[in-house]
Amino acid sequence: NVRVRFAPSPTGSLHIGGARTALFNLLFARHNGGTFILRIEDTDTERSREESVAQIIRSMKWLGLDWDEGPDKGGNYGPYFQSQRLELYRKEAERLIEEGKAYYCYCTPEELASRREAMLKAGKAPRYEGICRNLSEEERKKYEAEGRKPAIRLKVPQEGETIVEDIIRGTVVFENSVLDDFIIMKSNGMPTYNFACVVDDHAMGITHVIRAEEHLSNTPKQIQVYKALGYEIPEFAHVPMILAPDRSKLSKRHGATSVEEFRDQGYLPQAIINYLTLLGWSPPDGEEILSMEKAIKEFSLERVNKTAAIYDVKKLTWLNSHYLRELDLDYITSETIPFLVKKGIISEEESKKRYEYIKKAVEISRDRAKTLDELADSIAFFLRDVEEYEEKGVRKHFAKENAAELLLKGAEALEELERFDKQQAEIAFRSLADAMGVKAAELIHPTRLAITGRTVGPGLFDIIELLGREETARRMRKAAR
Ligand code: GLU
Repeated sequence: NVRVRFAPSPTGSLHIGGARTALFNLLFARHNGGTFILRIEDTDTERSREESVAQIIRSMKWLGLDWDEGPDKGGNYGPYFQSQRLELYRKEAERLIEEGKAYYCYCTPEELASRREAMLKAGKAPRYEGICRNLSEEERKKYEAEGRKPAIRLKVPQEGETIVEDIIRGTVVFENSVLDDFIIMKSNGMPTYNFACVVDDHAMGITHVIRAEEHLSNTPKQIQVYKALGYEIPEFAHVPMILAPDRSKLSKRHGATSVEEFRDQGYLPQAIINYLTLLGWSPPDGEEILSMEKAIKEFSLERVNKTAAIYDVKKLTWLNSHYLRELDLDYITSETIPFLVKKGIISEEESKKRYEYIKKAVEISRDRAKTLDELADSIAFFLRDVEEYEEKGVRKHFAKENAAELLLKGAEALEELERFDKQQAEIAFRSLADAMGVKAAELIHPTRLAITGRTVGPGLFDIIELLGREETARRMRKAAR
């Protein structure tokens, strides 16, 4: 029975990389009929933030990364916050001491730092040399009497090697001589990541540890902890890094990286999920557009790439346009409304009354938008008057000497129609153009500019029909002045 976990440290918001790790865990769990667990690794009291926990949970829910066990859900292996599991870590660390596999270390941070310095000066790689490994009872008592608070270190074999069998990376060999007796419990009584992670992965019955490649170097240490505690070692899969287009580490200067930033910019969760699915993985048929359901069906760790994935916002935007076009119209409309409200284009109250109208505006406009934010901007003219006209359009379409006359006559023609709809409006425009001896485009372009303020957009007659003849005529007359 497959059990996997996503184990974020709540020290910031959920980023693209974390979301991808969570997604791969989820896909793997669902593909195998297993369980996906969310565990909050909040033992770093200095850096953990309540607000980050809330933000991570919010982002995961928004993306549809639903966990089976964890915060808000419960489960038989809780609590799912490491800060609530301290007793367990303490007990396991004490067991290791009793079994002679770990020891108290009384070295102070200052002592450690100065020895580190000395090793660096001597051209050696700094490592803990096991000073406290074999303290006598007397020496310990002396330190205790000095009021020193001990950390607990694991006794790590200095010879041989530790082998990580990784589903994605294959066999990775680490020389034990590069490991040292690392700390498993800090002097303040808190566990270190490498210890708490192993204790929990075991206690929670985790079968596959799927996590970012940056943790690969922690894995030999964790394997030493598994061995010392007598736990069965799970499978490991380290997913490749995500790099910026210039192959540097992805950071703020490459634009949005947190899930909430993308949400605020008007990206759809479906597009982000689709995009993340392809960051280091691809389905056997190479299909680029794929829903979570399809990804679940096809997902396997064996198809995850070894090499770094390159983050490409253009592809994400392309996927976003696709989903804006293809998803249910009511859904896209209701996702667009908060952007209209945020921009002050319409009040929430008003948006309810004019829902059907907004929906039609979205329907004829969504093909051209890349984000919800853009879509909201592009339908603003349906909801409020045009205050400004695109400058290059003014030069091109309003400057012509017959422009004002055409706009006035066009407005009249619309008002005189017996039946008003887009076909009739188009017929009226074309016959007016004929009668005046101009091309239809000479009427269409200034009209578009007059009623939308823009030079491009959906089909003019779709716009006219939705805007209505009175409002269209009014805007045409206003522009003619
Ligand atoms: N808390 C660790 C992190 O956020 C978890 C790593 C792991 O999955 O083991 O990077």
